[in-house]
Amino acid sequence: MNNFDYVRPSSVAAASQALLGANATALAGGHTLIPTMKQRLAKPSTLVDLGGIAELKGIRREGGTLVIGATTTHAEVASSGEVRQAIPALAKLAGGIGDAQVRHRGTIGGSVANNDPAADYPAAVLGLGATIVTNKRQIEADKYFTGLFSTALQPGEIIVSIRFPIPAQAGYAKFEQRASRYCLVSVFVAKGKGGMFSSGDVRVAVSGAGSNGVFRVPAMEQALKANFAAASLAGVSVPASGLMSDMHGSAEYRAALIDAMAQQAVSAA
Ligand SMILES: Cc1cc2nc3c(=O)[nH]c(=O)nc-3n(C[C@H](O)[C@H](O)[C@H](O)COP(=O)(O)OP(=O)(O)OC[C@H]3O[C@@H](n4cnc5c(N)ncnc54)[C@H](O)[C@@H]3O)c2cc1C
Repeated sequence: MNNFDYVRPSSVAAASQALLGANATALAGGHTLIPTMKQRLAKPSTLVDLGGIAELKGIRREGGTLVIGATTTHAEVASSGEVRQAIPALAKLAGGIGDAQVRHRGTIGGSVANNDPAADYPAAVLGLGATIVTNKRQIEADKYFTGLFSTALQPGEIIVSIRFPIPAQAGYAKFEQRASRYCLVSVFVAKGKGGMFSSGDVRVAVSGAGSNGVFRVPAMEQALKANFAAASLAGVSVPASGLMSDMHGSAEYRAALIDAMAQQAVSAA
């Protein structure tokens, strides 16, 4: 067993200070970090529990934007009337993460900070063109995801909330890996309504398939901008090169799934 210290600050400022310590790590739901520690892949000297910080919790609407606090659990997002009304596809996505235990412990901030290539939330964050608000700055989704398990976050930087523009339409479709329920392939599509996400603009983001993590599909975005209908995607495909290939599915299989999930996501929208 590795020894570590545990602190539970009550403000972002205090957490930020605690994270300046050597090898200090933020703890949210612990559903990625604790297994990683058990496997000795992470050995933090101090765990800084974000769970006691009120300003990281909650869901609110600010005009055309839905703001979700970093320590809001997947279950809270899935059951929120505000989310269901503003972005039903986001509530659906959260309700399909893992199992009930994972959904009641795991948080949106933890998922987006971790940036697992098979996680659900990165598809929505990129597909909606959300903004990641940290204790230091605001980061556009297009500049935030930088590779497998890699983001623009700097050491000690804390995600405070995620700001989602409320779209005119959005849909999410996921082909899950049966044992874990992580994405084998998932696709989030959205059509803008104005403001941060221009009216008529379309974004398509894919999780689970990219060998460099979540990515957008410009060819599908162009086709859907011309006509936002599943039929518009006929003949628009994603090449297998650059996609992940593993025991769960080849790159070619994932490419075929992207086509199918994209059409389902548009139909759902
Ligand atoms: C059995 C199982 C099945 C799962 N299935 C799915 C699935 O289907 N889809 C899916 O998307 N995910 C799935 N997950 C992952 C789950 O969603 C996790 O909750 C999530 O990846 C991490 O969130 P967390 O709150 O538990 O973060 P933690 O494990 O506490 O932290 C993860 C990382 O993020 C950092 N961090 C946490 N919060 C912040 C913050 N606010 N600011 C900066 N850094 C922060 C931590 O320091 C750590 O490095 C599954 C997990 C398990 C165990």
